Amino acid sequence: RSSLKIGLVPADGIGREVIPAARQAIEALGSDVPKPEFVELLAGFELFTRTGTALPEETVQALKESDCALFGAVSSPSRRVTGYSSPIVGLRKILDLYANVRPVISVAPTPEEKPSVDLIVVRENTECLYVKQEEMTPTENGREARATRLITERASRRIGEMAFELAKARQRKHVTIIHKSNVLSITDGLFRETVRSVPRLHEGKYDDVEIAEQLVDSAVYRLFREPHIYDVMVAPNLYGDIISDAAAALVGSLGLVPSVNAGDNFVMGEPVHGSAPDIAGQGIANPIASIRSAALMLRHLGYGAPADRLDKAVDEVIREGQVLTPDLGGKSKTQEVVDAILKRI
Ligand code: NAD
Ligand code: MN
Repeated sequence: RSSLKIGLVPADGIGREVIPAARQAIEALGSDVPKPEFVELLAGFELFTRTGTALPEETVQALKESDCALFGAVSSPSRRVTGYSSPIVGLRKILDLYANVRPVISVAPTPEEKPSVDLIVVRENTECLYVKQEEMTPTENGREARATRLITERASRRIGEMAFELAKARQRKHVTIIHKSNVLSITDGLFRETVRSVPRLHEGKYDDVEIAEQLVDSAVYRLFREPHIYDVMVAPNLYGDIISDAAAALVGSLGLVPSVNAGDNFVMGEPVHGSAPDIAGQGIANPIASIRSAALMLRHLGYGAPADRLDKAVDEVIREGQVLTPDLGGKSKTQEVVDAILKRI
């Protein structure tokens, strides 16, 4: 590659404050990566309220023509809005980004020490309750709402393969399957059984990876009590969403946790946090989740060394503790944190 075409979709709220930060971090890498060519793209709820569309066809088309992308966050309303559907949930489906990979890693006081939390949540990204097939029926006793929860063997197998592949490359080589098949024996049962069968389909390849499993509720409990027991946690869509926000609390802030949405042909970095309407527009959003998402995206494309440079710069700034946004107890602005990181890249 001589250049890297990167689609940027800041979308709503602090997405517009943190995606520019990620852009500056990539630019600071200079010739360590192919010359980045950024393409600014529109999406989001604010766009929907202005134009009636949350995910324009031009955005989808431009992403299909890009090498990779960074997505900010959307402000999806909690009430039902006719004609609106979340663009991020849509994009994951359209681009078949079936895996949401969310590393949650704390920064040890010195580079020599091991982080106390070092795990990856691998979240299935295309099905479960996020197929959004909901219906409302009036009954004699009031309204009744139903949702379809879809779990397929195909999606469970490929997310399982992603989890084993990631575990194999890690020191502990340990996968925990998260489920609730004591209650949902058919849907979660299929997920659990299919992920468990992955090593058998790849004879020998994952022999060195240890498998455990845990019911989702007690998994959250144990995550808070003894986070070190986890290495790679693989989960259906909804549990994975919840567990990764919970795990973010262990490392201090949602503003620190990155992710990539990955498929076989495309990768899109995205901070785990949402649009944070409570702090949007104040210039105090933590840019680190987005900068780390850029690093993850680059790593996924095979640019491991430049990704390491970004992560190292971020770790140094956190370790020094002088320039931090308010979510981490600091007083600095987004751009001051970005500048501190850029200086160390
Ligand atoms: P949120 O992640 O936006 O915010 C939760 C809390 O964490 C807030 O107090 C917020 O200020 C703080 N926070 C989050 N990111 C931060 C950052 N970078 N720096 C400093 N503080 C940060 O979750 P929410 O409040 O439940 O949701 C707000 C909106 O975001 C909703 O409309 C929701 O639908 C949307 N959302 C979108 C995505 C996405 O785009 N993938 C994900 C989650 C939520
Ligand atoms: Mn979430």
